[in-house]
Amino acid sequence: MKVDYANLQQQYQKYKKEIDAALQAVLGESKYIMGPQVKTLEERLAAFSGASYCISCSSGTDALELALLALDIGAGDEVITSPFTFIATAEMIAHVGARPVFVDIDPDTYNMDTSRIRDAVTTQTRAIIPVSLYGQPADMDGVNAVAEDYGLPVIEDAAQSFGALFRDNMSCNLSTIGCTSFFPAKPLGCYGDGGAVFTSDQKLAGKIASLRLHGQGERYQHNYLGVGARMDTLQAAVLLAKLPHYPDEIHRRQAAAQRYTKLLHDKVKTPAVKGDRTSVWAQYSIRLKGRDALREHLIHAGIPTAVHYPRPLHLQACFQYLGYGPGDFPVAEQVSKEILSLPMNAFLTEAEIDFVAREVKKGIRNKRANK
Ligand SMILES: *Cc1c(COP(=O)(O)O)cnc(C)c1O
Repeated sequence: MKVDYANLQQQYQKYKKEIDAALQAVLGESKYIMGPQVKTLEERLAAFSGASYCISCSSGTDALELALLALDIGAGDEVITSPFTFIATAEMIAHVGARPVFVDIDPDTYNMDTSRIRDAVTTQTRAIIPVSLYGQPADMDGVNAVAEDYGLPVIEDAAQSFGALFRDNMSCNLSTIGCTSFFPAKPLGCYGDGGAVFTSDQKLAGKIASLRLHGQGERYQHNYLGVGARMDTLQAAVLLAKLPHYPDEIHRRQAAAQRYTKLLHDKVKTPAVKGDRTSVWAQYSIRLKGRDALREHLIHAGIPTAVHYPRPLHLQACFQYLGYGPGDFPVAEQVSKEILSLPMNAFLTEAEIDFVAREVKKGIRNKRANK
């Protein structure tokens, strides 16, 4: 049996009629830049998330940059975030001229350890960016409480968690600004690059919308130094076709995760989702010693896996100038050696999940026998 990691082809085949028609409609109108589908999508995404405003943009990375620019964060400022995330989170902090300040993660959820944030706050701190990793919102109440004490805005990096719940609220609508990504393999993906910024602050929303269009107000009147970060109309059309199916896809991902956990929980450390939130399972990541040997076994069995992420950000070459070293964030460092993401998407069959779980167990047994 050969298992597909993200099943993007199967996804397209399932929605082909709707997606083809949506793309044809855009081609027929030729409004490729900021066509009517873009605004419609923003309205639907805002309604879905519960946030008052949604500003679509060209990627999750650009969404983070827009959020930082909107808050006037730049040279001399510090922004607190997780060292255990995709590079874009800290990369955009650095790109606007600010300094990423890392805080170690919780060993169960792999999200930022809220109890460590206070120690990282200085007079230079201008924002906190928790990452809702693998699809589960970070401890947003905890983060917001610390932020409130210091009068700081919070940007949720919700690139992996659009649609997840924290108590009764949805990810992207849990703090000052929420940023998500529609990269094809994210839980809600388009068929190219795409992203969105969410806020319920009217002034921020207006500024982000302007920043996305080169800081433009009236045509060719530029109020801010902005960026070119529009979402293509074609991508908005794909997302409009897919959005109605998204709640069902979330349920399918949750069912797949539940089945994995049932089959594997006594063999490896399976993901922990807190009782007051849900995950949309951007990744289903197990944790074990001997990760690389198991990964090798699974490749031979026809099962693709991924490692999110093999090197924490404080140990990346590009961040050497920050002066961090090995041992500074021991939990992130340990998890990066032991984490392994299994195939996860809304189209996995029960037989496939059972097959993957069987091979995981076999791989662990073989490794022990070889010792
Ligand atoms: C994917 C991702 C991003 C970047 O999104 P793109 O759309 O690929 O630019 C940022 N942060 C996290 C946590 C991500 O997983």
